[in-house]
Amino acid sequence: MAYEVAVQSFFDSQIDWKRSPASDQNLFPDFVVKKVSELVGFGLQEPEPLDVHTEAGTRLSPQEFHSQLHQNSEELRLIDVRNTFEYDVGHFDGAIDPGMTHTAQWPRFVKDNIQDLRGRTVMLYCTGGIRCEKASAYLRRRLKDLGDSSTPVFQLEGGIHRYLEAFPDGGHFQGANFVFDKRAQMRSGSASVVGRCSECSSPWDTHHGGRVCAVCRALVLVCDACDATSSGEYWCPEHSEMKGIYHHFLDRFSAEELQLQAGALQSCLAKEVGTRKKNRRNTLRKKLMQVEARLAFLTDGAGASPAPPIRRCRACERPYSECPGSCWGFWRHSAAE
Ligand SMILES: [Zn+2]
Ligand SMILES: [Zn+2]
Ligand SMILES: [Zn+2]
Repeated sequence: MAYEVAVQSFFDSQIDWKRSPASDQNLFPDFVVKKVSELVGFGLQEPEPLDVHTEAGTRLSPQEFHSQLHQNSEELRLIDVRNTFEYDVGHFDGAIDPGMTHTAQWPRFVKDNIQDLRGRTVMLYCTGGIRCEKASAYLRRRLKDLGDSSTPVFQLEGGIHRYLEAFPDGGHFQGANFVFDKRAQMRSGSASVVGRCSECSSPWDTHHGGRVCAVCRALVLVCDACDATSSGEYWCPEHSEMKGIYHHFLDRFSAEELQLQAGALQSCLAKEVGTRKKNRRNTLRKKLMQVEARLAFLTDGAGASPAPPIRRCRACERPYSECPGSCWGFWRHSAAE
């Protein structure tokens, strides 16, 4: 409570606090409070900065959101504005996953889908209601660019967090609410498992900090059984075509294997054309250079027949057997630990 009072006076504005029970372990070891110019970065080049106070969608309470979900289902576009790895472990019935690995991809989704959204009832939700503020303001501005100020855009106030408080049995929400601290997830009463292992498709909804995309480090759902027999490298949906081609750790491959990877990377690179693919071309080029450098090292004679290296964690780079699994993002232990 003392903390809430202090933060309240620091920011000099009303704060919508969300509380959730936890054990006495320190959930936020790197916790700091600061004023920032932009929360939820979209990396936008807007001539006028988005003003969430005047441009965000209409905020609905959990009860209002719940009853809105029962109306005109044909005309409803219910969109999950979180990342795919969050959607994967739990989401509202019938929600659209925009396929994002980070928030900055929202503008791309809006651009590709705005014609379908026009004239429908658009409903957005996220973890705690923060991302929706920006996402709805951005969407409404793009609709306005098209002369459309009548498409209703709603957002769930307080996010899934508040909804699960109001509907402890889960209501229309299935599975778990992924959170970025060491609680890892909040479950509804029904607690059905909606996640699937990306390797074997069996029900699985526990993320592990060491099971991440080799390319972008987004969390990938992989069950313990599959992970036990894996090389430890995975690929998110966005980078699925780089499976078996792009690896983070190169020291476990022979010269022959690296030769094949270099060829595959080159043909991958040739397919990625257009301005949108610029980042991806850079990523592929960088990896190709690393593969070629490693090849040169091996064929030099100096690095002949390397000892097979032990499996390491992609996120923390420690030997995998020593990785606590909480090394990813905000789960990370503080350096002192
Ligand atoms: Zn599996
Ligand atoms: Zn990825
Ligand atoms: Zn790790």
